[in-house]
Amino acid sequence: MTEKYEKEATGYTMTTVMEEAARCLLCHDAPCSKACPAGTDPARFIRSVRFNNVKGAAETIRENNALGAICARVCPTEKYCELACSRTNIDCPIDIGGIQRYVTDFEQAAKMDILKKGSSNGKHIAIIGSGPAGLQVATTLLTKGYAVDIYEKSEKAGGYLTYGIPEYRLPTDIVEYEIKRIINLGANIHYNTTVGEDIMMADLKATNDAVVVAVGASESKMLPMFADNPNVETAVDFLARVKETKGNISDVPNSAVVVGGGDVAMDVATTLRRLDVQTVTDVAYEEFSEFKASKKELKGTRKAGVTILDGYIPTRVSNNEVTFNHRHIDSELKIKADKIILAVGQRVNTTNLNIDINNHQEVPYAGYRTADPKVFVTGDIAQGDKTVVWAVRKGKDVAEQIDQLLTRDEDSDLVLGGK
Ligand SMILES: Cc1cc2nc3c(=O)[nH]c(=O)nc-3n(C[C@H](O)[C@H](O)[C@H](O)COP(=O)(O)OP(=O)(O)OC[C@H]3O[C@@H](n4cnc5c(N)ncnc54)[C@H](O)[C@@H]3O)c2cc1C
Ligand code: SF4
Repeated sequence: MTEKYEKEATGYTMTTVMEEAARCLLCHDAPCSKACPAGTDPARFIRSVRFNNVKGAAETIRENNALGAICARVCPTEKYCELACSRTNIDCPIDIGGIQRYVTDFEQAAKMDILKKGSSNGKHIAIIGSGPAGLQVATTLLTKGYAVDIYEKSEKAGGYLTYGIPEYRLPTDIVEYEIKRIINLGANIHYNTTVGEDIMMADLKATNDAVVVAVGASESKMLPMFADNPNVETAVDFLARVKETKGNISDVPNSAVVVGGGDVAMDVATTLRRLDVQTVTDVAYEEFSEFKASKKELKGTRKAGVTILDGYIPTRVSNNEVTFNHRHIDSELKIKADKIILAVGQRVNTTNLNIDINNHQEVPYAGYRTADPKVFVTGDIAQGDKTVVWAVRKGKDVAEQIDQLLTRDEDSDLVLGGK
């Protein structure tokens, strides 16, 4: 059971990666590179692979993206670089994610150590949250000579990389290796430390030149009718439990109903099937034409044997039976299952952090700097897509902004103040 849950799809070999790279048109205007939110520069690293320079390809990826091996596996490339790829007009886009995975696997196997810590500039930055956004902020600042402390409420770093995305899509050893690289660069991670409880924002502001809030949307939403029902679990809690035990949970049900139509719901449903749950039904509010889950995830979920029903709203729940009514037609469904899993979105918790969050679970203004000149936000709570590659991009952006502000003329009113 565990092996089935953990098994990642096979990657390219040296021969097959060369074949795939040979399909690249080496476009002069590189639309793929322009479409990567994190600036990972696929056109440049694929060109290096084409000319047998895998080391050079690894350098390009790593210099632009602290989480290159992770993005290679989980980035929805069909929405970004592969959507823009010129090869699409001939047959199908280049498998940019697959080539990136080959190159970063090579980097790991060759124990390459590409990023170097910058010489100290005497400035200290505190980062709240060690998800992809916090990790990227830390990396960029460390290479520029800042001292970085990360405060993380969980036992392990990584946010949803560690506690959310299933093992078969993102193996734990890959995440751990990427984090180790950032620790070796000098990041000081304080585990089991919730800012707002164990240490206060005011203390971080008093002892650092800037504070970056990268707390993500790390809690699951609950619908009131399901609260306190012992058969119900939230998606994030379920996925974290499965990932932590590598698929060895003690309460695998015989049947399950998943409520939700996004990528997280697809992850839950597919994970259940990989744990050998016999009957898995996913019921989504959206109709297929408006589905939130990516086509790739939807296809994978169907292939795993999940029944997906679209356009239904849960209207009643009694013990382990949920009643759904269709949004547009007169149709009622009653589904009984051992386990009910809610995948209806995640929620931000900024208790005691003095950060305002709007109904979209974001800070209510564009940009990264808050009304408090010393406090910045990034990752899922900042505006923009909620994906790992965007967390990397927002992490790079906020680090550059802080660096610019802190290295300006001391008399400038943009210099961070107000300890
Ligand atoms: C199940 C699942 C599957 C996903 N799959 C994909 C995918 O395939 N591809 C993709 O691109 N994106 C995917 N995403 C989205 C992606 O994981 C997020 O966009 C990304 O993790 C956001 O990064 P972040 O750093 O902003 O926040 P997070 O990853 O949420 O990290 C925030 C961190 O802050 C910590 N924290 C929170 N509050 C405090 C506090 N007060 N004090 C200290 N620490 C605190 C948390 O413990 C956590 O470690 C998925 C998300 C989920 C839930
Ligand atoms: S757009 Fe596609 S074909 Fe052109 S350089 Fe990028 S990967 Fe190669």
